[in-house]
Amino acid sequence: MLNGEKRIFRPLRWGMVGGGRHSQVGYKHRTGALRDNTAFQLLAGAFDIDPERGKDFGMNIGVDEERCYPDYKTMFAEEAKRNDGVEVVSIATPNGTHYEICKAALEAGLHVICEKPLFFTSEEGRKIKALAEEKGKIVGVTYGFSGNQMLLQMRAMIEQGKIGDIRIVELQYTHGFSATEEAEKTSEAQKWRVDPKIAGPSFVLGDLSTHTYYMSQLIMPHMKIKELLCDRQSFVGSRAPLEDNAFVLMHYENGAVGRLWTSSVNAGCMDGHRIRIVGSKGSLEWWDSKPYELKYEVQGEPSQTLIRAMPYLDNLCNADERLGALHVEGLSDAWANIYLKFAIAIDAKNRGDEDTLNTLIYPDIDAGINGIRWVENCVRSAEKRSTWVAFQ
Ligand code: NAD
Repeated sequence: MLNGEKRIFRPLRWGMVGGGRHSQVGYKHRTGALRDNTAFQLLAGAFDIDPERGKDFGMNIGVDEERCYPDYKTMFAEEAKRNDGVEVVSIATPNGTHYEICKAALEAGLHVICEKPLFFTSEEGRKIKALAEEKGKIVGVTYGFSGNQMLLQMRAMIEQGKIGDIRIVELQYTHGFSATEEAEKTSEAQKWRVDPKIAGPSFVLGDLSTHTYYMSQLIMPHMKIKELLCDRQSFVGSRAPLEDNAFVLMHYENGAVGRLWTSSVNAGCMDGHRIRIVGSKGSLEWWDSKPYELKYEVQGEPSQTLIRAMPYLDNLCNADERLGALHVEGLSDAWANIYLKFAIAIDAKNRGDEDTLNTLIYPDIDAGINGIRWVENCVRSAEKRSTWVAFQ
């Protein structure tokens, strides 16, 4: 169980690019990173595309005035001159800026934590991976809810054969917040999400399903997709060529099959994030709206609901428990778990501790690249009028 005591020698000196006053995701980064003040200290930022607003915001959240920078290039250059300069930076800006900021950060000698979808192409991912290796730095990807410990319980139970051989993988990440074009008119963050120059080659496939795809890999690391078929559409026509709805069918190398539904036009749906894994003996099912519960159903036996923090859960799961039984937790705790693992990875990298790096479960650069590959394969299939394509 986690209690805030230090897991690394000292907190990491941390800065942010983006995640400013009006951003959707910035606060999640800060609540995640700063949950345990033994992991990260927020010391600098280029928080906003508008320098004045970014400075005002940074000072309001307690960052020194001279370390609230007008842009990321100035921040990396000025921080490098200080003895107490930041050593890790989080990038919480729109998708189209991730690659250049990530590259500049690594070149400035910083570890990086970057938003998903990581970049537009897996080629960009490979270049950044090579640069990170050359510089000896970690690149983590904020698949935030993947820090929920019940997903690790699923992983442990599948590994222990509790549901038998996996046959069916059913994934869903949908909401209805962009059911009409009104969404683009009322939200700046929605406007760029449907602009291919800023969002990249997809809308919901990249924005939503990269989370779910990573979670499925986290739960079932041995399951590799052999081929997939993607059918995507833009129910709000002005979003074309980007999709606001997609269905993906998957064939896995071991003969299992899967399907994923991702959508922002699932009108009336507020939180449709669901993972159901069906094996030859039973099934496991998790919903993000009840992140403390895991449904475990064995054929011919009464269905069970496993509850977080209980001693009957696997150590892998309870090691990431924060509050103990009876009290509810959720998204913020998942982000805090992810950020703590980023800190442990960075600290291990700094010390050359390969054992820790090889056993730590967290969304690393490969998880980011795999998210891009997932989107690339889906788009390739959709563009061939939804035919099966070999997973590359
Ligand atoms: P947003 O438009 O709400 O906010 C973007 C922020 O970045 C704003 O503060 C803006 O001023 C700032 N910004 C833009 N360009 C900048 C630059 N060059 N330098 C400094 N600041 C800059 O966007 P959002 O919804 O917060 O999304 C940001 C990223 O986070 C996207 O990649 C998105 O996919 C991702 N995201 C992830 C999650 C998650 O759960 N992991 C949730 C939401 C968004």
